[in-house]
Amino acid sequence: MSRLPSGSPQGTEGGVSAYRGRFAPSPTGPLHIGSLVAALASFLDARAHRGAWIVRIEDVDGPRTVPGADDDILATLARLGMHSDEPPVWQSRRFPAYEAAFERLRAAGFVYPCGCTRREIADSLLNAHARHATLAYPGTCRDGLHGRAPRAWRLRVPDGDAARVSFVDRWQGVQSQDLATEVGDFVLKRADGQWAYQLAVVVDDDDARITHIVRGADLLDSTARQIYLQQCLHVTTPDYLHVPVVTNADGEKLSKQTGAMALNLDDPVATLAAAARHLGIEMPPPGSLDAFYSAATAEWAKRFGPP
Ligand code: GLU
Repeated sequence: MSRLPSGSPQGTEGGVSAYRGRFAPSPTGPLHIGSLVAALASFLDARAHRGAWIVRIEDVDGPRTVPGADDDILATLARLGMHSDEPPVWQSRRFPAYEAAFERLRAAGFVYPCGCTRREIADSLLNAHARHATLAYPGTCRDGLHGRAPRAWRLRVPDGDAARVSFVDRWQGVQSQDLATEVGDFVLKRADGQWAYQLAVVVDDDDARITHIVRGADLLDSTARQIYLQQCLHVTTPDYLHVPVVTNADGEKLSKQTGAMALNLDDPVATLAAAARHLGIEMPPPGSLDAFYSAATAEWAKRFGPP
């Protein structure tokens, strides 16, 4: 299934842009400079397009969710002058929507139960690695559970040429991934009963009529899966822009585990200016939040604004 989605309509009706963007933090801890860069990029892109910007709390992964982190993130965004244009969405309140999408995929024959344990998959990947073969899920349960109990549910990806998904990223350029050899049939419902991020994100972006996704490049690798899922569900593929991730001195993506420091909220403008620098936006220190956003939006619009 090789195609280059060229984006969704960006028409304006009565001066109101059809653009709808979002920031989708996982509430696993406070916002740090890495996640702030993604938040700021999505916010500036929405402003440059005079569109809506919506916050979605991605607490689909129950075990990783830290109680209170959602409120903390929303308060930090507010302190930095970023307010969701619509009430924030919590994934934990949207399970029926994921169930409905999953049932559609199941009825259409796209999903199958998988009885493999993590250990078995890891072992087979290790063997494959030793043979310099693919690291994709080997498809053990594609044709049946071989007498084992179902654990996770996987989406069947196409074989051959149809497995290649390509798209144009507004920052990173042309991207292409072979789902069969690089990913394999991927999990939509986990063995612990939790909905997988890949399904939740596609259902949520579609239900919120998101036209533009702006996020960190650590998710570039997930995008082909999400586009394929959109095709299976017959929903629109949004435009994508992945910003470079912020790394520490060892080149690791910044997170609480890799030493991200708490944001300085006593000086919001300086904190935002630091995040803007990671996006290649250099400007004289602006005095107020409003001045920062006007200048930063103008800079962003020069590179990524509407034609
Ligand atoms: N929740 C994901 C994260 O915090 C972002 C998902 C997305 O933007 O699609 O890394």
